[in-house]
Amino acid sequence: MDDSNPFDLVIRQGHVLTLDPKSTCYPLADVGVRDGAISAIGPDLSGRGRVEINANGNAVLPGLVNCHMHETLLRGFCEDLPLMRWLEEICFPIDKSLQPKHQRAAAYMNQLEMIRGGITTFLDIYRYPAQAAAVALESGLRAIFSPQIIENPPGAGESLESNLAFVQEWKDRVPGRIFTWFGPHAPYSNSAETYQQISRLAREYQVGIHTHLAETLDEIKMFQSKTGKTPVAYLADLGLLSDRLVVAHAVHLSGEDIHLLAEHDVSVAHNPSSNMKLASGVAPIPDLLAAGVRVGLGTDSNLSNNNLDMFEEMRLAAMLQKLARRDAEAMPCDKVLRMATCEAAACLGLGEQIGSLAVGKRADIIIVNLHAPHMWPILAGPASNVIEQLVYSASAGDVLTTIVDGKILMRDRQVLTLDEVAIEPLVHDAAHDLARCSGLDRTPRQSERG
Ligand SMILES: [Zn+2]
Repeated sequence: MDDSNPFDLVIRQGHVLTLDPKSTCYPLADVGVRDGAISAIGPDLSGRGRVEINANGNAVLPGLVNCHMHETLLRGFCEDLPLMRWLEEICFPIDKSLQPKHQRAAAYMNQLEMIRGGITTFLDIYRYPAQAAAVALESGLRAIFSPQIIENPPGAGESLESNLAFVQEWKDRVPGRIFTWFGPHAPYSNSAETYQQISRLAREYQVGIHTHLAETLDEIKMFQSKTGKTPVAYLADLGLLSDRLVVAHAVHLSGEDIHLLAEHDVSVAHNPSSNMKLASGVAPIPDLLAAGVRVGLGTDSNLSNNNLDMFEEMRLAAMLQKLARRDAEAMPCDKVLRMATCEAAACLGLGEQIGSLAVGKRADIIIVNLHAPHMWPILAGPASNVIEQLVYSASAGDVLTTIVDGKILMRDRQVLTLDEVAIEPLVHDAAHDLARCSGLDRTPRQSERG
């Protein structure tokens, strides 16, 4: 690179929200990128980039971090069931029939949707991780794969052996962008011994653990009657609680559970859409935050959401707490935006690398359209309302450009790394095949079930 091009990429004239610890915001500034990292932020950066993007006053912010999702293939399918019936009658039969070819198509669909919605990093807990990781090689997204281990019912998920083999094969393949964790589905679908083995292996390989925990009241009752403990206390007694662990949901918690999560530096992935749709409950997020627990947002799967729209997730995360607590101040929008960016990155152990715009951090950046009527008016000065518009008015379709490690994955709504036209028929074919293989293609709709 010669000196006339000090940058690989410069994003110019953006309304830059850094999400750094001071919430620094530049009403009009440039972001320079070199070697995949942010190398300068400020007004009128001198020196050209090999590639220049004019942000045209739109919002420039860190890429969104999805702390809990499953790259499932089916959605809009067998709707309106409570969690345990939905798992047993729908999810587990699908999971048992799933083949690598289905997972490849699912990963294409999910990663395409995430790029289009401004998600730059995701934590996936599902099947055939090598298929999904191969798609991430192409898509350019940053990803953590935690293969979903399910011992009971047998055949519905990955095994400890397949999870370990994946960690060994992929751990160092794409350093800094593709990560391999352990993914025991839940304490009710895996044995205590398996959790203890995973705890040991995660320490040995220096990787994280992702699991579902305390999602429904049924789960709490089941654990109380079987063990006399809450699911959180049960995992605590097994030695699982640590800063390596990210738990999804954490809806039904006692005061002691919250204390245990805080004391052991466990992170929580909060999924308000899924919790509402499956009628699981309202996670006590303000109490967790007050206790010092890190919380990041997740979409959960497109079977239980039904989209991977982190803007919608932010909006619901704010509104759900306000409603549940009859308190409009219960969850302010700036806090919610942090739960989708810097706090989410910290949950995944990536707080030093991503989650905010700062010199030296990886260049995971999105540009969000502010030139649309539903985002107006944009106010200047102390009354600046860009965060408010992003959390309460924006949706995934407002993301114009998505960048990971300085590489442009989508520019002006055009995905550059995946071929959307070729992927669409692949997804429809694989979905029909999976519905047929799992015997669910003849399942009547809820209104016809009686
Ligand atoms: Zn989940």
